[in-house]
Amino acid sequence: MIEFRNVSKTYRGRLVVNAISVSIEKGERVVLFGPSGCGKSTVLHLIAGLAIPDSGDILIDGELAATGGKNLQEPERRGVGMVFQDLALWPHMTVAENIEFGLVAKGAPERERRQRVKEMVELVRLGDYLNVRPGTLSGGEQQRVALARALASAPRILLMDEPLSNLDDELSLQIRREILRLHCDLGFTLVYVTHSREEARDLGARMIRLRQGKVEFESEVGDRVKEAGLSDNH
Ligand code: ADP
Ligand code: MG
Repeated sequence: MIEFRNVSKTYRGRLVVNAISVSIEKGERVVLFGPSGCGKSTVLHLIAGLAIPDSGDILIDGELAATGGKNLQEPERRGVGMVFQDLALWPHMTVAENIEFGLVAKGAPERERRQRVKEMVELVRLGDYLNVRPGTLSGGEQQRVALARALASAPRILLMDEPLSNLDDELSLQIRREILRLHCDLGFTLVYVTHSREEARDLGARMIRLRQGKVEFESEVGDRVKEAGLSDNH
């Protein structure tokens, strides 16, 4: 579903992503792990088409999406949904309006949008909150709105960048379960960034550890993080 072939990206003369080659299968759950500044977010931006590689190829579902210095597939054509740490929900819009935002931008007809919003709030169990503004919800509820919004346009790939770091332990655990359930139900490919070992372990995903823009460690397809022998030399 996602393939990086020798992908590099430089910011201000610094090699932030250094000749990375990775392959992520359709429907896989992958956790990108590693210390702050090692290039995790940049890798997500490259997948989403929000950053362009200086060299190397990025393939999405077998199609060349970007190649050295050129974006060949616009972000909105990549079928990617995103949930980032700062949720960026629109404060002046209701929960329903937030969720349908991407569908409005795509020009989906109103009836389809309504239907989709209804499905999404049921999916993330937010049915009672359709008409309230996000500011009145708890952190966990807001995170579920962000999830629903990302999933509304039925992405092939869901990118999550430290989505739980602002939540307390219990909420974080609850949303993790929610993400796992949604992943099983909907079958998208999940790339999840965290620097929390507990989160990585809990998601039971294949793990790719970055260090200074390089893949330092990668578990086998289907391996569990636990079995991959996550040592303490982090
Ligand atoms: P991580 O998500 O692992 O913490 P990032 O991918 O955000 O790491 O950043 C890696 C490095 O690239 C950092 O040094 C960061 O300052 C730099 N960087 C990331 N994005 C940009 C950008 N848009 N412009 C300039 N520098 C950037
Ligand atoms: Mg980051």
